[in-house]
Amino acid sequence: MEEQRNEGDKPGGGRRQMNFYWIYGIIGVVLLGMLFMNSGGEGKRIQWAELKDHVEAGHVEHILYNGHTAMVTLKPAVRDSLFPPQDGGNSLLQNVYRGPDYQVSVPSAEAYQEELKLWADARMVKYDYEEESDLIPQLFSYVIFFGLMIAVWLFLMRRLGGGGAGGGQIFNIGKSKAQVYDKSKGTNVTFADVAGLDGAKEELQEIVDFLKQPEKYTNLGAKIPKGALLVGPPGTGKTLLAKAVAGEAQVPFFSLSGSDFVEMFVGVGASRVRDLFKQAKEKSPAIIFIDEIDAIGRARGKNISMGSNDERENTLNQLLTEMDGFGTNSGVIILAATNRADILDKALMRAGRFDRQIYADMPDLTERKAIFEVHLRPIKVDASIDIDFLSRQTPGFSGADIANVCNEAALFAARKGRELVTHQDFLDAVDRIIGGLEKRTKIISEDEKKTIAFHEAGHAVVSWLVEHASPLVKVSIVPRGQSLGAAWYLPEERQITTTDQILDEMCAALGGRAAESVVFDKISTGALSDLEKVTKQAYALVTVYGLNERIGNISFYDSRGEQSFTKPYSEDTARIIDEEVSKVIEAAYDRAKTILSNNLEKLTALAESLLKNEVIFKEDVERILGARPFAKPEQPALNPAPSADAPAEEEPA
Ligand code: ATP
Repeated sequence: MEEQRNEGDKPGGGRRQMNFYWIYGIIGVVLLGMLFMNSGGEGKRIQWAELKDHVEAGHVEHILYNGHTAMVTLKPAVRDSLFPPQDGGNSLLQNVYRGPDYQVSVPSAEAYQEELKLWADARMVKYDYEEESDLIPQLFSYVIFFGLMIAVWLFLMRRLGGGGAGGGQIFNIGKSKAQVYDKSKGTNVTFADVAGLDGAKEELQEIVDFLKQPEKYTNLGAKIPKGALLVGPPGTGKTLLAKAVAGEAQVPFFSLSGSDFVEMFVGVGASRVRDLFKQAKEKSPAIIFIDEIDAIGRARGKNISMGSNDERENTLNQLLTEMDGFGTNSGVIILAATNRADILDKALMRAGRFDRQIYADMPDLTERKAIFEVHLRPIKVDASIDIDFLSRQTPGFSGADIANVCNEAALFAARKGRELVTHQDFLDAVDRIIGGLEKRTKIISEDEKKTIAFHEAGHAVVSWLVEHASPLVKVSIVPRGQSLGAAWYLPEERQITTTDQILDEMCAALGGRAAESVVFDKISTGALSDLEKVTKQAYALVTVYGLNERIGNISFYDSRGEQSFTKPYSEDTARIIDEEVSKVIEAAYDRAKTILSNNLEKLTALAESLLKNEVIFKEDVERILGARPFAKPEQPALNPAPSADAPAEEEPA
């Protein structure tokens, strides 16, 4: 996951960035200035006849005529009596710059101009003639226009520069955008913050050691590894591992994401790669970390005419050359992380580029416990917390999910105004993360509620009575997120699955719909996610795992995803696949219906208990259904896998 980037962190980021907001400031000042200049006002507009009255009454001191308008200034005494200070006419501003008191449009007839002259000649008023100048307003409009142009230009330059190293100018667009950590400014993450992943840590520790004391290895003739690729599902701690390397290795660490190379201009990606390696070589020994490398490292297209990915391919070619090309670099180790190692270009993966692939897998029971311990450190928990139980409750959770559980639990506790986070908060957080937040206010009719109760009870009864279905933990008919009810199971942690196990799981998943059919003789849309899950499982059984007799030991699964447009089988085979899938599903459905018909009383008792209590636990189920016929010794792990109408969990392909 990418980090927050801040400008000052960039190489050369010590230089002060130009703040273009001052342009807005200047425009503001100019506008204010214009207002200020005009603040004296142009005087009240009056008619010629009124002006004539004032002149004849001896009120007027001065007339300024510009060819069409007369600006009239009154004698101070008259002005004070006509515009007393309290009516705003004599504001402080106006005393500084006093405009005319009246403005008169002088009609164009000559008689009027002559009358003006007459008043002047008779010394009734002081008279001046001045051609009006357009210069000042024009000047202002130019200033504003150019000011705006400059502001827009600066803004565009900044955007195009996109925060390239050292100043965000367009000229820096080809510069690498890597964030640099070094001795003085490292991350404060260490290997102690990464729980589990022992194998991965060991390999990375070796790289760190190599950088710290290369002689230990070079004395034996070993070469420094060129690169390591961290591969694994999302949230398993790949970025965290890289951060820990940055924290541990006392060498400059350049961190950036695959998408940082991508820009809308041709050649920028390649240029950024060159610049990145140039900077890293200057500071060698150094580490470069490229997160989500699949953004640039995707396999190059075979079809040249497609041509649309040229820019990305150029970037990749440059990366290949820099990593192990003619002018080989030394002392620069490249770490990269991706969820999709399968789509990466083969040339990138070969030894000499990414020599090592480090797999960050989903955590197992002990690793989950360790991850809980790391994330519980900052949380104030009470004595009821049982970390063992929590880690057994969360199989299939990644490190990121566990971090999220801890945070959600703290939020739950805070919402309830508690001082400490309790065990129940953690259980609620797990439920919430799997199924979404409880929605007790959702309006559900009595009939619907009954259908949901029988549906969930159907899942519970079938899974209780078939051999390989995962044992039940609890059943709930409280709506949560998208689902209206859910049954929670404790699946075993297993690496391989047999045909019988898949068939029993399908039977349990169809138990909900089967119950609706057996009890009400009607089926509903409520089984959508069950059907989706079961259909995927059946197709996987037939076409992926080669577990169907008629299709035989054939798998049409393509791990590189290259056959997306054509099916690798004939029309006949397609028909057989569809027939077999349908047969498998219908057989599981019929089996579920038979089990439920034979146990109708127990099913009804369970549904009624659900309607009464909304949530029932394993113990209640055991009381109603009796001990589980195929009970196995205590499972190593608990898994609350939602079923029924809960959002479908991703099935392994
Ligand atoms: P993605 O492939 O989606 O980028 P990622 O594998 O890089 O995911 P990270 O960003 O490393 O995942 O992990 C996300 C968060 O999960 C981390 O910040 C950390 O809090 C937590 N986490 C994951 N794995 C571990 C672990 N092994 N120990 C402690 N915390 C972990």
